[in-house]
Amino acid sequence: MPSLTTRFAPSPTGRLHKGHAYSALAAHTLARDRGGRFLLRIEDIDPTRCTRENAEQIFEDLSWLGIDWETPVRFQSEHLDDYSAAAEALREQGLLFPCFCTRAEILREIERAGHAPHGSEGPLYPGTCRRLSEDERTQKLSTGTPHALRLDLGKALALTGPGLVWTDTNQGIQDARPELLGDAVLVRKDIGTSYHLAVVVDDGLQGITDIVRGVDLFEATHLHRILQSLLGLPVPVYHHHALLTDAEGQRLAKRDRAITLRSLRESGVSARELKRELGFEG
Ligand code: GLU
Repeated sequence: MPSLTTRFAPSPTGRLHKGHAYSALAAHTLARDRGGRFLLRIEDIDPTRCTRENAEQIFEDLSWLGIDWETPVRFQSEHLDDYSAAAEALREQGLLFPCFCTRAEILREIERAGHAPHGSEGPLYPGTCRRLSEDERTQKLSTGTPHALRLDLGKALALTGPGLVWTDTNQGIQDARPELLGDAVLVRKDIGTSYHLAVVVDDGLQGITDIVRGVDLFEATHLHRILQSLLGLPVPVYHHHALLTDAEGQRLAKRDRAITLRSLRESGVSARELKRELGFEG
């Protein structure tokens, strides 16, 4: 049996807050208690939202928390070829289709259809471009219309068959239900990959056995599970934890200007105090 390997995989789109500290400490503690490895991965595939400065700040915040990690740190932006290779493997199996829709077109189509099954990421894709004829597709491709690549979930499920499961240590064995995310975008129009594809590829390549992350990614795991099958990757165990909330019960999020670790530190809070507050012994 390989030893336990876990990771913390933040996107450097802003400063870390207490919720991130909780996730990082939970993963780090799991590795420490089980004699395993702890990796840090910087998920910076989106150059419009991620900065090197934020990544540097993440290193500083984690060091302040007393977290140590193996080097070199994997920056996803330096491994785009790995994600392209995975997309190509799926394409060769006929599991991807080009999607030329804009967001506005998708919303209009959903409105027209009069119903919109929702997943964790909003209304599900109504399948417009999956139904294009080969001629229409070729024509659009030949004129260079920008397109994303989506998973053809029907074909993917036909290939894997039923019976895919994954385990969450808090909620037990789960039947994989990738239909919660529908024909998800695996290769975005603007960057040659997507969160879902990159995270699954990296967890596989880095030999991650245990994934600790917030329960906001629980539904995404159903999609990740089928991608693992399609790409021949091992299936980690998941530890989805509850999200921290503020005094009003609102979920902490970077965009809501939750108090950052940096400002806590600058206001004199010690790492020891914060860890105790979050339920970790200093
Ligand atoms: N990069 C993701 C985020 O910052 C987390 C990915 C994961 O843990 O799977 O929300």
